[in-house]
Amino acid sequence: MYDKAHKDFKEQETALDAMAGDGGYSEGTTHGYLGTVMRRNGKRFWAGDNISDYVREEHIPQLIDEATEAFERVLDCLLIDRETDPNSKGTARRLAKMYFNEIMEGRYVAGPDCTAFPNDSEDRYEGMLVVRSELRSMCSHHHQPVTGVAYIGIIAAQKLIGLSKYTRIAQWCARRGTLQEELCNDIAREIQKATEASDIGVYVQATHGCCENRGIMAKSSLTQTTVLKGAFKDDHGTKKEFFDNIKMQQEYASK
Ligand SMILES: [Zn+2]
Repeated sequence: MYDKAHKDFKEQETALDAMAGDGGYSEGTTHGYLGTVMRRNGKRFWAGDNISDYVREEHIPQLIDEATEAFERVLDCLLIDRETDPNSKGTARRLAKMYFNEIMEGRYVAGPDCTAFPNDSEDRYEGMLVVRSELRSMCSHHHQPVTGVAYIGIIAAQKLIGLSKYTRIAQWCARRGTLQEELCNDIAREIQKATEASDIGVYVQATHGCCENRGIMAKSSLTQTTVLKGAFKDDHGTKKEFFDNIKMQQEYASK
């Protein structure tokens, strides 16, 4: 299976190499090939973008190998002796695997499967639902951790999704390189897609490693962002209920 895919890939790659010259990517590599294809198709591949339509599962081991070599070069440039320092020996591969399988996983895998249930019975729930989702992300600028919580508020439309799905969607959006403003927008958009609801509020509060570990070294910096749609934006009562719910959650939830 992998061999077949790899053979197909090699053939495509050769064809692409023949047309090469654009993109500035190294030829004969998986990342070079995928980058070229995305450029040609006008597909954006910024740090916060999901590219699972292009990166298939069988590409990942090869991409990890290529990233390992690149991280080895970075460590060499930092004058870290990878050969004798026992703690730095496997670091390049550990970094490569961590990027693909953990901290940037949300770029390479498709979104969570959100089976929606009809919410159309006579006594259907019409109130507000607020879900608190723990988030781990990484800033695109410095690749430093972003740690926080998203509060997702929704007034259910015709469809309901399982409660855990809100958090799965939020985490899938977060496992990329992001800006908090973009992350907040991404979560709202994906929740909207999964539920087809038009009344949605997302409030994110997070601390940023790039403000705590470097730069201004602000130990307790907290950044808050809010995206409001539909009634959450236009109706004062709905907006107030959302923020009152958040306050209650914060009183009860573990800090
Ligand atoms: Zn940063």
